[in-house]
Amino acid sequence: MILFLGTKTGTGETNVLKGVSSSYCHQTNTLTAISIPTYFHLFWISIFKINTTHFVECCHCKKSL
Ligand SMILES: [Zn+2]
Repeated sequence: MILFLGTKTGTGETNVLKGVSSSYCHQTNTLTAISIPTYFHLFWISIFKINTTHFVECCHCKKSL
């Protein structure tokens, strides 16, 4: 029997950061906080969340902060 297990990333969640300006292009309200969860899966069924990656990206200049 072959076991299919490993990790997979879930659907990310985005939140626009209002009133915050990008340190690269100095545009306000362009920063988006993105959180992407990583799940442990067994036969592609998510068992539990291992980790969540958080980062902030500017949708104007596409830089990650
Ligand atoms: Zn920017």
